[in-house]
Amino acid sequence: MSETIFIEGGRVIDPANGVDGVRTVVLRDGVVAEVGERVERPGDARVFDARGKWVTPGFIDLHCHLREPGQEYKETVATGARAAAAGGFTSVVAMPNTKPVNDNTSVTELMLARAAAAGAARVYPAGCISKGQNGEELAEFGELKTAGCVALTDDGKPVMSAALMRRALEYARAFKLPLAVHEEDLALVGKGVMHEGLTSTRLGLKGIPGAAEDVMVLRDLALAELTGGRLHIQHVSTRGAVRAIRDARKRGLQVTAEVTPHHLALVDEDVAGAGYDTDFKMNPPLRSADDVKACREGLADGTLDAVATDHAPHSAVEKDLEFDVAANGIIGLETAFAVCLGVARTGAFTENRLIEALTIGPARAFGLPGGTLAKGAPADVAVLDPALEWSYDPAAGFSKSRNSPWKSKRLVGRCTHAFVGAKLVHGEK
Ligand SMILES: [Zn+2]
Repeated sequence: MSETIFIEGGRVIDPANGVDGVRTVVLRDGVVAEVGERVERPGDARVFDARGKWVTPGFIDLHCHLREPGQEYKETVATGARAAAAGGFTSVVAMPNTKPVNDNTSVTELMLARAAAAGAARVYPAGCISKGQNGEELAEFGELKTAGCVALTDDGKPVMSAALMRRALEYARAFKLPLAVHEEDLALVGKGVMHEGLTSTRLGLKGIPGAAEDVMVLRDLALAELTGGRLHIQHVSTRGAVRAIRDARKRGLQVTAEVTPHHLALVDEDVAGAGYDTDFKMNPPLRSADDVKACREGLADGTLDAVATDHAPHSAVEKDLEFDVAANGIIGLETAFAVCLGVARTGAFTENRLIEALTIGPARAFGLPGGTLAKGAPADVAVLDPALEWSYDPAAGFSKSRNSPWKSKRLVGRCTHAFVGAKLVHGEK
């Protein structure tokens, strides 16, 4: 007999089932057994007191970099999956730009074996669109899917050939896999290192225009229309991209999209405020206040389906450099909830909508299990303290890396417990 877990007294927010109120959540045999207002508790049940807390489906991150194989000094599947659990994420999709890249089943299988051994968040590998992420020849989508890949992406790089992108959309359709795309026109990006605008001019840094993203999003929406393929736009950061995706959805295209916590919370001027701190350097870059407003509106109205972290660990070797040459990317699994909650509390979107974008939104976008507390769903649950004030110290976190713009910042809201398959993977027993 497996243990029965009662999570009692918390505000259960389960947007997939229209639930928002105080309920008891019962987990048994790896699945959600019941969610109810009054549930009789057997004497041998293990009880978690969630009074004053939120109880939600475990978060699902469609976009993180776990760095294994090849760059284990930055992160491993085990440390990344553990950091995820600490942030309330019970499932994460691991990007394929490892070393070697995940364009073949041996890399996929290694990631899955490491994840199973780690016993933290579930890890779903994404495979490459093109062999070697070279943008020339398609990877073997069928083999990658059979090995366990849930999506295809060349993340880190755009697919610059429109012809290859067209074939990828057609080919992926046969396997019902979403194509997740990192949208930037490299010719427009040039040597840019931050958003092109008044701030880049003032700082003397080369700029990346928002149009570098817009033109690629518009191109791929046209190709999705041509092929009937399933497109997922990664880390949307511009007003133009949000508008184009909104229009495409109205026309019935199969397009979904994600936005990161940092593109909802920070603006290009923060690079100046932080004094060229390279933990404010990422790709896409922090955009203008108007772009941030558009991303918030896009999340609020459902144009953007999911909040995804783009958790991108780097060591001091890659980051402790001049802004021009430092690596792109920041870690985000352990701060995503607090950062987004802070934005929600400005009135940008509701708390309920935020939880939706962290749970059922991403689950539906990639067709993943979870994201719901429906009876029989995987017993993946996050318990969150929405009032907990804490100071974020990356060195005390679970990620191996420390590259976060929120280091030493006061945050409000934190995951206290996470369950995966009814097993406690984060928090005090
Ligand atoms: Zn990317």
